[in-house]
Amino acid sequence: MAVNNVKEIEDLVKIVSKLPGLGPKSAKRIVLKLVNNREELIKPLTNTLAQVYKNVIRCKICGNLKSTNSDCVCLSKKYDQICVVETIADMWVIQNTGIYKGHYHILGGTLPSFESKNIGNGLLIESLVNRVKKNSVKEVILATSASVEGETTSHYISDCLKDTKVKITRLARGVPVGGEIEFLDDGTLHSAFKNRNSVNSD
Ligand SMILES: [Zn+2]
Repeated sequence: MAVNNVKEIEDLVKIVSKLPGLGPKSAKRIVLKLVNNREELIKPLTNTLAQVYKNVIRCKICGNLKSTNSDCVCLSKKYDQICVVETIADMWVIQNTGIYKGHYHILGGTLPSFESKNIGNGLLIESLVNRVKKNSVKEVILATSASVEGETTSHYISDCLKDTKVKITRLARGVPVGGEIEFLDDGTLHSAFKNRNSVNSD
């Protein structure tokens, strides 16, 4: 492809090929498309990226993405269900199934499997407990992955929520072991949600 030897182009190809699902070949095709459409693509893309860089941050309360120009969804009206996920990608997968339309809490990862007491790793667990208390939430749905780390994390969260009396449920184990939410198909997720089990059964 004739995009070689121009440093700016090579730099851009390098960056674009770091995006998920793209290798050097498709990155070159994208860059070529961009340089051939300066006004229609490069200009608005540059502006939009600058806006995202400047204004989009992760909410310190719920872990979701928010704009610095407006309040996060977690501060909006009352809600009584929270679905706890590891990552934003997991949330998007569940949202796409349409089975759950309530609020989310994005932990930002999992606890390490062995030192469950080591919680100084930036997971948004304390703020989850605060949300539950503040909004009189009735159900917390734990949708962490079916890995050792996911299980450890969900046990730890149940422990932290003990005093709140909130009902805690966990996605049904139709999820394959080690199964990460992000890669589950719609059908599996649907039944895992529908048949979710109570963790604190009383
Ligand atoms: Zn938030």
